[in-house]
Amino acid sequence: MKVSRKNALLAAATVNDPRWAAVVAHDARADGTFFYSVRTTGVYCRPSCTARAARPENVTFHPTAADAERAGFRPCRRCTPNQASLAEQHAAMVTAACRTIERAETAPTLEQLAKQAGLSPFHFHRVFKSVTGVTPKQYASAHRAGRLRSELGRSGSVTEAIFEAGYNASSRFYESSSHLLGMTPSSYRAGGIDSDIRFAIGECSLGAILVAQSDRGVCAILFGDDPDELARDLQDRFPRANLIGGDPAYEQLVATVVGFVEAPALGLDLPLDVRGTAFQQRVWQALREIPAGSTASYAEVARRIGSPTAARAVAGACAANMLAVAIPCHRVVRNDGGLSGYRWGVQRKRALLEREAQA
Ligand SMILES: [Zn+2]
Repeated sequence: MKVSRKNALLAAATVNDPRWAAVVAHDARADGTFFYSVRTTGVYCRPSCTARAARPENVTFHPTAADAERAGFRPCRRCTPNQASLAEQHAAMVTAACRTIERAETAPTLEQLAKQAGLSPFHFHRVFKSVTGVTPKQYASAHRAGRLRSELGRSGSVTEAIFEAGYNASSRFYESSSHLLGMTPSSYRAGGIDSDIRFAIGECSLGAILVAQSDRGVCAILFGDDPDELARDLQDRFPRANLIGGDPAYEQLVATVVGFVEAPALGLDLPLDVRGTAFQQRVWQALREIPAGSTASYAEVARRIGSPTAARAVAGACAANMLAVAIPCHRVVRNDGGLSGYRWGVQRKRALLEREAQA
């Protein structure tokens, strides 16, 4: 009687845990976010494991495979939770480190981040770089750049904003400020107005980046070396729009896009405002179906959209793309695998492809 009552309580605790639904559904999307062990077998699994479902009263959840092993469980032979999900564990670990960096008042040291991740500083640094393409330090300064702009909008003085954004020395801000600050609203007003487009210019590992958003979604992600040139480029592409720069409320979205550019595998969970002809839209949709880490030739993309003779037109649609990385035209290469052109420079294309091949 006592045992069955205890089991009922244990079962209820498991069934009421949102992670249990993922286990029951063998949901692969939950892989890497937690593990579960089964008391009666002494084995632990990934959520997607297709082994026979365990009774909830025997199940315990663990945040990492290492936690499950420390609790005395051994990896399941079917889903090999300690091996196959290494990439997912790395992604989850790096995401956690990114959040720590974003929340910290002063940038955490490499040692602190590595300790939190349970790795040696050397190993942590390597994993972080391979997943994101940038070092933890570069990520922290990119994030500070985003915060700096939003603090400037709120704070009374520049000095105050600098310290609130986590810069220890004013000089570092003044060195880089021209690259970090958005444009003023009045400078970029075009003739006719058909919509408001908010934009800001920041810095990422690929140089200057402009992110613009209409009321329908992100409508431009552009790379360049010169922030002024990027703003002019935006104006050329949206000649009748009312371009609004330097909006503090908009800075968080830019930080999100920069984070996505640094680690495309993490995905961009934002609506896109994709403007183009029906043909261009078909090409761009096909590009979005090329997974990170792989490439396709112009001819292959033409075949995939049902227009096998349109390879040249596909190249034209790639060149007309306004949403760098979000519409991954960098994954389209020549038939012989050569890099061919990229609207934002072949060096950036190479850097993006190398980063995705490593992740
Ligand atoms: Zn398993």
